[in-house]
Amino acid sequence: MSRSLISFENVYYAYPGVDEYALNNISFEIQDGGTEIILGGSGSGKSTILKLIQGLIKPESGHIFVQGTEVSGIDEPDLMKLRGNIGMVFQEGALFDSLSVAENVGFRLHDQGDLEDDDIEESVRRMLGFVGLGELYDRQPSELSGGQRRRVAVARAMAHKPKLILYDEPTTGLDPIIASTICDLIVKLRDFEGVTTVLVTHQLQDAFQVAQGFVSQRNGDLFYKQVDEADVLTGIEFLVLDSGKIIFRGRQKDLLETNEPYVRKFLHGIGTAVGR
Ligand code: ADP
Ligand code: MG
Repeated sequence: MSRSLISFENVYYAYPGVDEYALNNISFEIQDGGTEIILGGSGSGKSTILKLIQGLIKPESGHIFVQGTEVSGIDEPDLMKLRGNIGMVFQEGALFDSLSVAENVGFRLHDQGDLEDDDIEESVRRMLGFVGLGELYDRQPSELSGGQRRRVAVARAMAHKPKLILYDEPTTGLDPIIASTICDLIVKLRDFEGVTTVLVTHQLQDAFQVAQGFVSQRNGDLFYKQVDEADVLTGIEFLVLDSGKIIFRGRQKDLLETNEPYVRKFLHGIGTAVGR
């Protein structure tokens, strides 16, 4: 038995009515507890990979396994169960504006219907504490800053204790310092809660911060470190997409040393400038 949590085997996908493949022969595996950092310009297919993992769309050909189950082969109830093990942080945070912060974070827990209100409140308070926003419990999303909204979105994604969290450009539109707090949070969830992580981004800075970040605990306090080759220690892989094809996959060191022309261009220009 392989320990991979996610496995793509020769996956092709085209959106209905579109001639070109959005994903063209994609194969990779993510180990349980591992981190995949997916880089690529706009329209390269990053979000499409996340939709396939969640079973929101089905591959035209090829196979996708998530937690040992072939996603395209399962029925709706099993798909719901699978999604219960996945947390998702969307681009722009995407909170429900008509619900309070607490209701947003507890949304999936209420939806599951098997928890008492007191238990939900306790979980929600714990999650908000984890992202450092305990005092915002009763607020409305409209009263929050962009960075706070994004942290609430992370708290919401982790509330039902998923084994896997998918982040789709979680720092878009945030200034670099706030973006960096979101990256620290991603690292903390990974190292502290053992969450398998898929981070889609076109911000190289975020990618390297997550790849090199490391959180440990001593006497109840958390310590953040930036560690060279932390990616080797914690099993972090980079995947670079261009026009639906994988043009690089490997460790950070190899990414920085590759001669692949698009990757080089990405590393030296668009990758660092866009969106901030
Ligand atoms: P990324 O997240 O890397 O910006 P996407 O995965 O969203 O890229 O899109 C990959 C390609 O598929 C792009 O060419 C995009 O225009 C196209 N695409 C995305 N969503 C749709 C859709 N719903 N219908 C048709 N084409 C789509
Ligand atoms: Mg996208």
